[in-house]
Amino acid sequence: MKQVSFTQLMTYVRCPEHYLFRYVLGIRRQPRKVFKHGFAMHETLQYHFEQKKADGKGIALAEAKEFFVDSFGSALEDYKQELEEARPYLTREYLSKEKHVNVGDMIDTGLKGLEVYFRHLNPYIDPDLVEEPFAFSVRPGLEVVGRMDLTDKKDVIHELKTTRVTPNHQDIRTDAQISIYQIGYKEVTGRAPKGLSKDYIVLSKNNSKIVRFRVVRPFIDKKTVLRSIETIMDAVQKNIFFCLHPAESWICSKEWCAYYKLHQEIKKLGFQAFMEKYAPRYHSRRQSSTLDTKGKNA
Ligand code: SF4
Repeated sequence: MKQVSFTQLMTYVRCPEHYLFRYVLGIRRQPRKVFKHGFAMHETLQYHFEQKKADGKGIALAEAKEFFVDSFGSALEDYKQELEEARPYLTREYLSKEKHVNVGDMIDTGLKGLEVYFRHLNPYIDPDLVEEPFAFSVRPGLEVVGRMDLTDKKDVIHELKTTRVTPNHQDIRTDAQISIYQIGYKEVTGRAPKGLSKDYIVLSKNNSKIVRFRVVRPFIDKKTVLRSIETIMDAVQKNIFFCLHPAESWICSKEWCAYYKLHQEIKKLGFQAFMEKYAPRYHSRRQSSTLDTKGKNA
């Protein structure tokens, strides 16, 4: 059974080449302080809601802040190691950008983010499922797996995000993740959710705030989601990995993309030669199929 997660699917949607490097070749290379920060915020709120589910109250804001600082601290230890391992493969621009990300500022904004979350959103959420795993079939032999951040006792799914840019309502209209959550929720509980909420903590030094968008049902229907997943996985199966980003796109830049050097290399070598270099299994599979063909032709 082939399993695919939402993160993997979205990686392909954002950049098929990135999917190739990360999931086909298994090259993990994206050390970023901001990811560790998001992880620590997520872990803190997960811990809080697990407690709240058990005792009706959860942890106090002061404890949440302490938990966040500890969690971020240990995530940064992992980050240092990941950065050292990846350093030879990263561009100068990427490393310089990372170097200038200020950890002190990140702690401040995280603490302010928790304050606004506890003041404006926490009182209204009565948790039901916290980090609940789900799985559903797309077709025989293909399954989507994932976890829902949080659902409440009113059958509303909450997707928690931290961001530095104020989001807009369009985000929820185009969000395939909430469609996947909706299917997952039905699989787990046997009922359709009554609502879907995207809860953003907008992080800022002076003006952190909560922005929330709620809908009754996703804009992308189940059929469309399943068809898109099948299409992506068929493309992966057929080795369709391309770069669509224009040269000046921020996403495809030396500062942002941790795979930029590989990106240059695949452009230079071409797909076959690149795969022969980085995927020995792919190489031996090709060789044996060439031998088979030769055998058949002989
Ligand atoms: S360099 Fe561009 S195309 Fe290549 S993995 Fe990065 S974002 Fe994708």
